Amino acid sequence: NDNGVPGRVRVAVRLRPRNSEEMVADADFADCVELQPELKRLKLRKNNWDLDTYEFDEVFTDFASQKRVYEVVAKPVVESVLDGYNGTVMAYGQTGTGKTFTLGRLGDEDTSDRGIMVRSMEDILADISPETDSISVSYLQLYMETLQDLLNPANDNIPIVEDPRTGDVSLHGATVVEVRDQQSFVELLRIGETHRIAANTKLNTESSRSHAILMVNVKRSVVGNEDTIPSENGDASLLDKPSKPLVRKSKLIVVDLAGSERIQKSGSEGHTLEEAKSINLSLSALGKCINALAENSPHIPIRDSKLTRLLRDSFGGTARTSLIVTIGPSPRHRGETSSTILFGQRAM
Ligand code: ADP
Ligand code: MG
Repeated sequence: NDNGVPGRVRVAVRLRPRNSEEMVADADFADCVELQPELKRLKLRKNNWDLDTYEFDEVFTDFASQKRVYEVVAKPVVESVLDGYNGTVMAYGQTGTGKTFTLGRLGDEDTSDRGIMVRSMEDILADISPETDSISVSYLQLYMETLQDLLNPANDNIPIVEDPRTGDVSLHGATVVEVRDQQSFVELLRIGETHRIAANTKLNTESSRSHAILMVNVKRSVVGNEDTIPSENGDASLLDKPSKPLVRKSKLIVVDLAGSERIQKSGSEGHTLEEAKSINLSLSALGKCINALAENSPHIPIRDSKLTRLLRDSFGGTARTSLIVTIGPSPRHRGETSSTILFGQRAM
């Protein structure tokens, strides 16, 4: 198992506890999964007698702490971003299984609740030098193949521009805010969330139907040495020259994916059917790219959706990617849970 090797997606599963409704309604029934975290195994109930067994890079029970989930799933990605590589952390799962809890919790009442976005920024701010390095963020929503700026609702159709030479992705016109401290970052997340709710009310949709995307850009100045400054004429008089500061750029992308549930096609019409198609398009495009990475395929079908185009330079190659798939315990959602688990398995 090549943990943490760039190019391969690390996949963890997290089970959320039963909620109060499930404690009553499913009181007489066992959970649809059994976890063996020490073996990194999950067993999915097929019927009263049989279980299917799956292995993951990590299996988190319903009492795993936010801190531990961060440390296992996101911290290695954050560290590689601080070293100058791009990285992505994504949460995939049915609505209500804990994607936003895992990624987006601000921890206002209880700091132990803080999710991956807040903890990542904490580690980034602790590592950089404010005099020479800079951190900036953008916060976006991708809904029906349209990219909206959550930090400025007037920007409701941001184009994704790829540099044909380097493959670097940029978002023309997206708000980029410099972050100097943790409090102002948490405030930005809060503002973004408020705008997300307003935008979705206006569009008459739910936030579970769109992807929320946080981009953290890291610029560090690294003092040049023989390795980083190409020597022009082969003379090694580096000591005589003032060392040339180089700027090293990298970015961390955190994606709270749209709910993976199959939206009932019968009975839903117009908007909802279009939404369902669009979500299925982007999640299946993402799945195909992850599978291609897992199979070491030379062709990653990145162009199939905006979600994957956006991830183009943060996915595969030297980039590090972690996927956390979130599941609920209810036997009534066994079917959805099963398809979520299979999505995660195919990524490995
Ligand atoms: P999603 O974003 O996948 O739709 P949420 O993160 O909103 O799901 O979680 C749904 C509900 O379950 C929320 O009330 C959340 O607080 C709760 N929840 C999710 N995961 C956990 C967990 N690991 N521990 C405790 N409560 C959780
Ligand atoms: Mg959510």
